[in-house]
Amino acid sequence: MPDYYLDKQPGQTEQSWSEAESSLQQLLEGNGRFRQGKPRFRRDIVAAQAAAPEQHPMAAVFTCVDSRVTAESVFDCNFGQLAVVRTAGHVPDRAALGSLDFIVAELKVPLIVVLGHERCGAISAALNAVSEDTHDPRTNYLVEQLWQPASQALEETDPKKAASHAMRLQVLRTITDLKRRPAYADILVVGAGYDLDTGTVTLIDKL
Ligand SMILES: [Zn+2]
Repeated sequence: MPDYYLDKQPGQTEQSWSEAESSLQQLLEGNGRFRQGKPRFRRDIVAAQAAAPEQHPMAAVFTCVDSRVTAESVFDCNFGQLAVVRTAGHVPDRAALGSLDFIVAELKVPLIVVLGHERCGAISAALNAVSEDTHDPRTNYLVEQLWQPASQALEETDPKKAASHAMRLQVLRTITDLKRRPAYADILVVGAGYDLDTGTVTLIDKL
């Protein structure tokens, strides 16, 4: 196993736990291949057709809409291996939660990865709004949803580190919320951050 330690969820069965660990290991190994420029999957039309009859994704990824964060590439996964939900700043709104509920119930994934990233525009907008106390109607909903981690980050760190701190807070807050959902009692939910410059995914379990 890679060098990380995770606790089994209180309600998680041994089978789900072992599937979740295996999925997480595959995702982290895929990220290793991606970083080394040695992807296993081409995701071309041949792969699309091979995966077309049915799907059994090994994990759900809940991440940002940022055009630089492409989960299938970052984790070097093929068609049918990942179910991806995206909202700006990975804000878990009702549609996102409904989508994750569907993935858990119908596609039976054992693992959800909440993937934040550096230099997130949604988080920057929230940090600006908090520090200048402004409300831009174009980003109002997101800013409202990200106000708490943004203001906490500005209180706890200097402005240079606030974006990274707010991203970690948002990831941790999201995984805490997801873990509380009764339907996810048998699911492993982990947080992670994506480094745009190195392509590295690092698990986040604390600030
Ligand atoms: Zn983002």
